[in-house]
Amino acid sequence: MTAASQRLEVGDGPKAYEGVVATILLAGDAGDLGDMVGATLKYHAAIRPSSTTVFYLGDNIYPMGLPSEDDQGYQNARERIDRQVMVLKGSAVRGLFFPGNHDWQRSGPNGWEWVKRQQALVERELGAGSYLPGGGCPGPVEALETEYAQVVVVDSEWFLRSYAKPSASSDGCPTWTEEMVMAELRRLLTKKIRSATRIFLQHHPIESVGEHSHGSRCPQDFGCPSYDHMRLTELAALDVGRPLLCAAGHDHSLQVLTGSRGCEYFAVSGSMSSASDVLTDGRTLFAQSRLGFMRLDFLAGGKVRLRSVVVESGHPEGKVVFEKWLRE
Ligand SMILES: [Zn+2]
Repeated sequence: MTAASQRLEVGDGPKAYEGVVATILLAGDAGDLGDMVGATLKYHAAIRPSSTTVFYLGDNIYPMGLPSEDDQGYQNARERIDRQVMVLKGSAVRGLFFPGNHDWQRSGPNGWEWVKRQQALVERELGAGSYLPGGGCPGPVEALETEYAQVVVVDSEWFLRSYAKPSASSDGCPTWTEEMVMAELRRLLTKKIRSATRIFLQHHPIESVGEHSHGSRCPQDFGCPSYDHMRLTELAALDVGRPLLCAAGHDHSLQVLTGSRGCEYFAVSGSMSSASDVLTDGRTLFAQSRLGFMRLDFLAGGKVRLRSVVVESGHPEGKVVFEKWLRE
């Protein structure tokens, strides 16, 4: 195979995306979005804008979310989220945000307030319901339920944080205990839906071979009691519905792993701002430390294709470096 034929040319136009009825772009950790990766995301979002949804998978504002307007860090933080909003604004592309640990004031004591402030800003730009689950609530929420996929979102930082968070009925969330969250997750994953494809998204990966899978910074790494408890509890709940794909950010790499318990496939797409080391193991279908994102295309007849797109200098379309039919 020549280099030219290995390159899946998005620039070839409609040909590369013939038969696609809907697209989801998974853009993780975009809180320090550079021009080139932003342009590549925008290019992909613009191929079929009215049937494309961009999910920003948390850590939308580095280093610690959106401070109050009188804080000297406000302007810089605001510009960071504006860059992500600009990918969507003025087009028919739908954009949905949910928070990561950095958005919760880097897991800080006032994080709840900071997430609600970020939500207000995003919803001012993109409309009500564009920030999930909303109110600092854990979810789960059904972000999409269409003829091609059901997408369920949880705010995983809610599980990990030790400071204030919604935890009582008076806090305004439909669920406020772990048991309630898991019960609702099970309900959503077993309810009758229009498609055959369920997708689960949160900021923290359940499976990964990135840096957070073998770090020692609690509670943000595998091996920490609260993180491991969340992973195991979620796997048990997910196993009831076995989503086709469970995807997350947090690790700054692009990974696709075969699933076993919980989900058919796991993906990490957290390299919109930076790329860090990633390992491989027996489950690894793809792992690269590159700036980029994942693209899910839904085709007629229920087919689902996952592509990894990385930035490439001089090519706004980027380069597709991995492709896998998740369902044929
Ligand atoms: Zn994170």
